[in-house]
Order: sequence, then C-alpha cells, then structure tokens
Amino acid sequence: MSQTMKAAVFEKPNVISIRQVPVPQIEDHEVLIKVKYTGICGTDWSIYTGKYSADKLPMIAGHEFSGTVAKLGKNARGLKEGDRVTADINMACGTCYYCRRGQKLMCRDFHQLGIHVDGTYAEYVKAPYDQVHVLPDGLSFMAGAFIEPVSCVVHSSKAAQVTHGSSVAVIGSGLGVLHGALARLRGAAPVIVIGDNARRLAVAKEYGADVIINIKDGKDAVAEVKKLTDGRGADFVVEAVGTPATYEQAFRMVRPGGTVAAFGICAGDDTIRMKPFDLVLGEMTVVGSCAGVGQDWPDAMALIANGHIKPESMFSMVVPLEELESALKELRTNPDLIKVFVSAEVSKREILSK
Ligand SMILES: [Zn+2]
Ligand SMILES: [Zn+2]
Repeated sequence: MSQTMKAAVFEKPNVISIRQVPVPQIEDHEVLIKVKYTGICGTDWSIYTGKYSADKLPMIAGHEFSGTVAKLGKNARGLKEGDRVTADINMACGTCYYCRRGQKLMCRDFHQLGIHVDGTYAEYVKAPYDQVHVLPDGLSFMAGAFIEPVSCVVHSSKAAQVTHGSSVAVIGSGLGVLHGALARLRGAAPVIVIGDNARRLAVAKEYGADVIINIKDGKDAVAEVKKLTDGRGADFVVEAVGTPATYEQAFRMVRPGGTVAAFGICAGDDTIRMKPFDLVLGEMTVVGSCAGVGQDWPDAMALIANGHIKPESMFSMVVPLEELESALKELRTNPDLIKVFVSAEVSKREILSK
C-alpha cells in the first residue's frame, strides 16, 4: 500500500488544499478504513469558515462517512479486511466522571473524528475498532455515509420521548425533515414541519409529515401550530434550526406541560429571551441532545436498512474530492441541494436526484 494519500486539508479558515499527506498510522486498537463517501455537513462549513475548531487547523475534516476496512490493528476484534463500515465519530477518555456514568458526550476529553481530529475527506481514515460499525447488507455505502446525521436525530428523538397521538412541531427543514420522520415513526399526530425550503418540505411530507408550513408564504408559524392544536400549542416542539429567534419561537409554540427538544446549534455566545414564569407555571420540559452515540448508531442503521427511513430522497449529488470547496459554497446558495457526498473515488460529479 502507498505511504501517501490524497486529502482535502482545511489549512486555515477559507483555505482548503488538495494534497498528498501520509496515510494514517494505526495503533493496535485502531483500524484503517478506505473511505468511499463522505456527506457534507453544516459543521464542515463552520470549520471551513473558522467558526468552529479553528484551533485544530490544519486538519482533514469530514465525519459522515462509509468505507471498507483496509487494515486492522492487532487488538482490533470483530472486524475483517474488506468489511463495509462506518464509525461512531464520538470519542472520549472512558474514565472521567461523565464517561463512568455513560455520558460520553460530556467527557472532559470529548473529541470527534473529522471535527477535532483528522477525518474522512481523504482516501483513508483511522478509527478505534470499537467505534466501527459493520453496515448491514441492505444498506448502501451512500446510506452508510448518512448514518451519522440519522443517529443524531435518533438520539434527540429518544431524549424527547414522543408518545402516540401527541402533536409534534418541528422548526427547520434541514435535519428537521428527519425529526418529522421519526416523530411519525413514534406515532405522533399531527406531525407539523416548518421551514422555508419548498423542496425540503416536500421531502418532509414524503416522510410522513401531516402538515408542512412554508414560512415564505408569510404565515406566522406559532399561530398556525396553535390553530392546529386547539389553541394550546404542540405537545412537543423540536428546534432544528439553531438561531435565537427560532428558539424563542419554540417556547411560544409549545403547550403548557409540553416538551421542547433543543437540537439546532446556535453560536456559543447566543442568548434567548424567555419567561422563567412560563417554565414554572407551564411545567415545561426542555431536553437537549448533542450527537448520536453508542446504541443510536445501530438503531439508525436498522431504521434505514429496513426501509423505515428512506434517505435517498435527500441525496442530491456526489462530487470528487477536488470539488469539495466549491460544493461547500454551492450548498449555501443552491436551495435545491440537500445532501451532497464527496468521494476520492469519483472523477466527475454525479447528479442523484433533483
Ligand atoms: Zn454532520
Ligand atoms: Zn471521559
């Protein structure tokens, strides 16, 4: 095997270079994975523009991926060369207060593949063997590169504990469409998805949303949700945008005694205005969720492999590694693009759905 590989290195904010770098050296507990696809995520844009992980640059980003096992460390159990895989990107120390309590995401040493350490916009990536998941037969490489975002939504859905027949309003039509799909799978009714992108809202409808609200039609989302819930507000509201304004909206949209699931990521110093009075008198529940971890990964795989979530409707195109930077920009300007994959194995772009 060659000692070097092609990689997209995020050198410093707003600079990506495609160059040869050393193939990662694996330790005994690690595996080397030949990367097939990586999905472009909003986090990649934040890293690219220097809003996130700027202190880690230069770094190879990329964290939503699939590939095949190329090499095993000598302590790597349960895997073999050629296995089709993805990997849980969330790594922790395993011994701190939080890790001992199964709250890995709060670990003092928490770090994520492709976000804090080198990731998958490259020909190869390494990962600890016990983070690696073998893809079920019915699951394509492309869907395999979509497990990470689905696992995050699964994590949030479990935290919120949506019940049969309860009303769920989702603010946001990015991963919001998946929140709508999971609410539907949990038996919620009605499922309401609110967004500003007609193409994505159509996917939300396909995924089982009973009502979609396009705020571009000039509708007041809070008033619409109240209208659909006898004036009460929704039993559950999922915030999946990540702005102070939409968080404030979520608290106005939930009924007394209801639950707000906080999912969208705001800037670190953003604040919102809300009335503690409503929290107390309204006995409101707020559940945060940061990432899909542990069991969320096999759960996400089972939902896709059995066709309960059909992610292909969200897949827009595949571009070569060389086009990563332009694709990052296109995703900001072309509202018809949903999920774009990058691959070092393709030489020209392939359009998947329009
Ligand atoms: Zn992501
Ligand atoms: Zn820890």
